[in-house]
Amino acid sequence: MADASETGNGNPFENAMKDMEKAGEIANIPLESLEVLKKPKRVLNVTYPVKMDDGKIKYFEAYRVQYNDARGPTKGGIRFHPNVNLDEVKALSFWMALKCAVADIPYGGAKGGVTLNPKEYSATEIERVSRGYMRAVHSFIGPMIDIPAPDVYTNPQIMAWMLDEYEKIEGKHVPAVITGKPVEVGGSKGRGSSTSMGGAYILRHMKDEMDMVPDNPSVAIQGFGNVGLNIANILSVWGGYKIVAVSDSKGGIYDKDGLDVKDVIAQKESKGTVVGFPGTKKITNEELLELDVDVLVPSALENQITKGNADKIKAKIILEMANGPVTFDADKILHKRGCVVIPDILANAGGVIVSYFEWVQNLKGFYWVEDEVLLKLEQMMIDAFKNVLEHVERFSTDYRTAAYILAINRILVAEQMRGSL
Ligand code: GLU
Repeated sequence: MADASETGNGNPFENAMKDMEKAGEIANIPLESLEVLKKPKRVLNVTYPVKMDDGKIKYFEAYRVQYNDARGPTKGGIRFHPNVNLDEVKALSFWMALKCAVADIPYGGAKGGVTLNPKEYSATEIERVSRGYMRAVHSFIGPMIDIPAPDVYTNPQIMAWMLDEYEKIEGKHVPAVITGKPVEVGGSKGRGSSTSMGGAYILRHMKDEMDMVPDNPSVAIQGFGNVGLNIANILSVWGGYKIVAVSDSKGGIYDKDGLDVKDVIAQKESKGTVVGFPGTKKITNEELLELDVDVLVPSALENQITKGNADKIKAKIILEMANGPVTFDADKILHKRGCVVIPDILANAGGVIVSYFEWVQNLKGFYWVEDEVLLKLEQMMIDAFKNVLEHVERFSTDYRTAAYILAINRILVAEQMRGSL
């Protein structure tokens, strides 16, 4: 994994601001208008106690940042990770605001996080960490204020505990306060794999409708959590894609003839890692990124492709399923090399789009069949892709800058309508 400090370009919030300034310059957005997007609207930083299984009390530091709410209640996941810090959560919440605007769903952007390594705690401890987080942020959120969801190392079970805690405090059912819930407690069909499905729809559109991706492209996927695992699964079930490499935090595996994804998933589920899969070559996460493939799919964390390794990337297309995997400086190098980067705020918007469907279903109390979810998801992803493409052409720029221009303009119009600009 590239060390941010080594390359000097790893502060995700500074990177995001540079991307915004670049978009502003190219689209001639007045500097004073951009001011409204330079700082989050509300920031909550809490420390709360949790009783461990051995009876001792441990304090956890946690955040919730509501970046911008001009287009609607703020929306975004909660991350459990040892590297969670305020600058990271600020960047992630800003990207959520842009992502919701690119997808044209009626939300602003937020993000939350707890600084911890979830692998070091038991399930009962994680439950108490989750409930404690909800008690700490309870008065800050709500279905018409700010709606959390899963992110890195959080999952539907954690959403169910958080929902339950919120509802206990409120003394009534409020399913629309959090999304990514299990279907049994008001989740939406299709939400679990929706981030991956959204990215897969874009890749399929680029391949089948636009000839931007060759037939049977070779694909390398970094990260085998919810997002990486599901996109590997979807592409292999569809057929017409050759998944040659995947990785998790323990390392990666490579087979130039293509992996048997179903069996790799079975091994991940039984052994906890993809490493050691029979008949494959063991590679590092860094080597995976530098493979000579048609499509590279970073699905782990931010700052993976930096100015330190950008000139070694051989992929022709990068589909950013993680948030912020490519830094500002790396983007410039990739662009010069002719690599097309489909940015996170477009590529991974499928998750929050189906979160939006979940919220709508919760508010209406009427639930959709999976086909309806998937049909609407595909329509919204392809519409977003076409809108971004139109900006690529209009401003002769890369996909990230185009997506930023589209999103920033939509948010600024909403700010203007509200009289804040
Ligand atoms: N954490 C996901 C993201 O980064 C989903 C957010 C949501 O569903 O609100 O887009």
